[in-house]
Amino acid sequence: MSASLPRWLRVSCILALTWMSGLVQARDWEPGFRDLAAWGREMHLRPITLGEELLLTNRWTRMRFRKDSDRMTFNEVEFRLSDRIPVEGGHFRVSQRDINSLMAPLLAPPKRTSRPIRRIAINAGHGGRDPGNMEGRRMEKTYTLDLAIDLARHLKAAGFQVVFIRSSDRFIALPDRAAEANRAEADLYVSLHFNGFDGPGNDAVQGLETYCLTPAGAPSSNDAQRHGRMAGFDANRFDRENVTLAHLVHRAILDQTPLADRGVRRARFKELTLLRMPGLLVEGGYMTHPGDTRLMDSKKSRDQLAAAIADGILRHKKLVERGTPE
Ligand SMILES: [Zn+2]
Repeated sequence: MSASLPRWLRVSCILALTWMSGLVQARDWEPGFRDLAAWGREMHLRPITLGEELLLTNRWTRMRFRKDSDRMTFNEVEFRLSDRIPVEGGHFRVSQRDINSLMAPLLAPPKRTSRPIRRIAINAGHGGRDPGNMEGRRMEKTYTLDLAIDLARHLKAAGFQVVFIRSSDRFIALPDRAAEANRAEADLYVSLHFNGFDGPGNDAVQGLETYCLTPAGAPSSNDAQRHGRMAGFDANRFDRENVTLAHLVHRAILDQTPLADRGVRRARFKELTLLRMPGLLVEGGYMTHPGDTRLMDSKKSRDQLAAAIADGILRHKKLVERGTPE
């Protein structure tokens, strides 16, 4: 600003600058957005607009976005976004944090630089005085332990070592579960759960949900009001590998079982926040849905689910250790 400017103009300039810096500060709270089609082109994906949807495609990849939706599909697998997709002046926009924490690692999975994946920690959710979801006499803790035992068998057959966080009906606090996996120096952590939905129409809610730790600075998938903690954890250093692991395990389960797709989601579950290794949490169907319950009660279906999880882990190992896409 020149000193030769009249005083009234100098004052106006200072006021304008102050007002503008206020705007910049206000925008720091919001995620940065950018043009989705332009990002796609940079990634060698062709953008195709179909009404309220935008597709980004090439020979290997098909990403689908919908106006105002917080869901996208990547090769027909559903993912929850941190931010809805706004459309402004006919342009679909996407938040930079969804690009960084989800879309980029899906397109270019990380290569593991630490030691190879050998030892898998299996956490059977709940136990002892904590039954988990209960439907009549059915208890989640029983299903998770049965599934853990089946999963261990499949993992061992695939050449992995297995660490059980619990192998009997006993209570273990959530931080102690992560601590046990850390102590055992596991290379990956798999937590097994089954869902329940209380509310009207609860017998219509069904399917598979796979969770990994919410990236630092992003809201969790089940936090519609955006009230939850947004800060990061030490475990967030595995964000990129977590996305690959969740994607491949989720996809293997969808491919090999009749479970419906309720998406790969992000949450700050206590056990995931304390891990010193990549990890995920599988909600293998709804105990409140008759179809899902039939699968849980069938030994054959449960074994199918366990085999699919083991297969997803094996695909993940191959992908991050050798960089060979499936
Ligand atoms: Zn549970």
